Amino acid sequence: MAKKNNNTSDNGVKCSFCGKEPSYTNILVPSPFGDTYICSECVDQIEGLLKDYYEENPSIRPDKAKGKKSKASAAIEPETKELPTPAEIRAFLDQYVIGQDDAKKYLSVAVYNHYKRLAQDKDDVDIEKSNIIMVGPTGTGKTLLAKTIARQLDVPFAIVDATVLTEAGYVGEDIESLLVRLLQAADYDVAKAERGIVFIDEIDKIARKGDNPSITRDVSGEGVQQGLLKLLEGSVVNVPPNGGRKHPEQKMIAVDTKNILFICGGAFDGIERKIAHRLNTHVVGFTGGSTRSKIDSDNYLQYIAPQDLKSFGLIPEIIGRLPVLVHLDPLDREALLRVLTEPKNAITRQYEKLFAMDGVKLVFAPETLEFIVDKAIEYKLGARGLRTIVETIMIDPMYETPSTDIKELVIDRAFAEEKIQKAYIG
Ligand code: ADP
Repeated sequence: MAKKNNNTSDNGVKCSFCGKEPSYTNILVPSPFGDTYICSECVDQIEGLLKDYYEENPSIRPDKAKGKKSKASAAIEPETKELPTPAEIRAFLDQYVIGQDDAKKYLSVAVYNHYKRLAQDKDDVDIEKSNIIMVGPTGTGKTLLAKTIARQLDVPFAIVDATVLTEAGYVGEDIESLLVRLLQAADYDVAKAERGIVFIDEIDKIARKGDNPSITRDVSGEGVQQGLLKLLEGSVVNVPPNGGRKHPEQKMIAVDTKNILFICGGAFDGIERKIAHRLNTHVVGFTGGSTRSKIDSDNYLQYIAPQDLKSFGLIPEIIGRLPVLVHLDPLDREALLRVLTEPKNAITRQYEKLFAMDGVKLVFAPETLEFIVDKAIEYKLGARGLRTIVETIMIDPMYETPSTDIKELVIDRAFAEEKIQKAYIG
């Protein structure tokens, strides 16, 4: 195929691109279709150009577009026997998340069905998408649940905050930007991203402010919900590869959201009042006083229904696209104690590991754990605050211990109280 530079110029052979003759190049490659040649230097240049082009437009890279089966897609196809059953998904969640039994069960089934749907026979009954909405106070494990599921399934996972999204043309991020995160998580492998999971946090913050549809434009609320709807329903969306605002000359990556699983989460502060109102109206109106006593008024969230989301300000179309509605329970004292010690990567376990790496056995006395939980409750920090409190207690020991020959360190309650008192008075 290739002609070495022993070709002489007298046979008229030269590179058809740059005109280089054989004596000035290493290799001249002939075309199979006639008297045309290309030299190795031109091939190198074209290769460089293509490389740059594919870096800018990863979606059209030939190996990506046709793609061999990625690890993620292999992992989610039931016939490969790698798709865990709902009970297995649940057991995995149990290792990391305390309590939230209902949410775990619904999520396991929804995720399992989602991946079965991906593998479904196209001529068969069309199984519809099962996007999920989780409602629960902040710091109860919504993000943790979504993250843990993504970790088990080994699919690209992105967390986005609904509060930064605005309608196109307004200050803030375009709705498409949430797909940029997913593409980044998938290393720009479009096929992989199209089977990923997006967790949209703080979905309650884009609720319509009033119960009536507004006539004026509602930049942060309904307009964003309308935009989001397009993604949840499943459509081909043009995404600017590097995020930011779209502009006309920018090359776009087309992403089909049909098979992306969307999990939304929000605290929906005050929704309990709407639930209570609905339940009480119902009780008074239809069944009389006896049902009222069965309602657990300490946790109205467990009775949440789609109409409560509507009263809160989500548009019915969005609610319809989030068919799996789950609630998370507030974490009580006992649950917080378990969060401190039980999960696979529980906070206390992480500190024990840090100290063990220095050859020190770290022990948290049981009363210390109770003190930490009490402080988290007192400061209304919930599970999110546990780490801050432990960090405040442990900063001095972490600083001092490596310079000593201590082999065992017990953190007792008096020590913890002193550190917290000092820190917060300071
Ligand atoms: P949110 O519900 O606001 O999304 P997160 O899932 O981000 O809350 O929780 C914040 C942190 O609190 C987590 O990283 C985790 O350490 C801890 N946490 C919250 N809920 C739980 C839970 N149910 N089990 C174990 N840890 C939890």
